Amino acid sequence: MAGDRSTGRRSRLIAGSVFVALLVLPFPAFGQEITGPAPLVIDPPPGTIALTFDDGPFDVLTPLILEILDRYDIKATFFISTYRLPHNADLIQEILADGHSVQSHGHHHDRLPNKTRSEIVEEVQTSIDLIEAAGAPRPSCFRPPYGATNEDVFSVADELGLEIVLWTVNSADTFYQEPDGIIESTLALAAAGDVVLMHDHWASALEIALPIVIESLLERGVGFGPMCVPVPGEPKGVAPSLSRVMSLLAG
Ligand SMILES: [Zn+2]
Repeated sequence: MAGDRSTGRRSRLIAGSVFVALLVLPFPAFGQEITGPAPLVIDPPPGTIALTFDDGPFDVLTPLILEILDRYDIKATFFISTYRLPHNADLIQEILADGHSVQSHGHHHDRLPNKTRSEIVEEVQTSIDLIEAAGAPRPSCFRPPYGATNEDVFSVADELGLEIVLWTVNSADTFYQEPDGIIESTLALAAAGDVVLMHDHWASALEIALPIVIESLLERGVGFGPMCVPVPGEPKGVAPSLSRVMSLLAG
């Protein structure tokens, strides 16, 4: 009865393979939606500009910026300097409640290339922990302070699952004390596809400049959207059916 033994061995092999497949398949398996990471908005979608606000939250300027963004129904991205938390953690909730994206700008706002790799890990991981502790989703993106990077900064971001996001247009709001400089710096360069750097802890001139910048860009026909959030409408993957797995194993 050599044939029976052979058939029995093959059955056990298939059964064993199915067991291994069940262990390695993502959960929930078999025909249900995979809840893994969805594709993120890293570049502004066609026809849009991403407004980004660094260094906050700041209890004076952040609420004013939120009010302006709400007035025009614009969603933006806030790169948080987490040394300001937990004191200003309630502002994180206000930013989230308005539908904006909350991401990491590190903890101490230090120039990271001056640090050791383990110090960089500490800086970035601390910022992730404090953002989550403030009730926000784990950040997907990291903007290094001053835009300063080196190999260690890139590898730490990669290790912690963060995309590094810089900017393409600097509003110069940390330089100009008057709104005109901010308005001219931004409007001279900003177009669809740009990521605009602004700050919600710096010049009160931004309070006057921001509505003028937004209205001018709206007149040019561009829209605005948040970064580092799941791409809207992106279909989620579906796990293979049990019969599909069985046919693959049998074949
Ligand atoms: Zn900064």
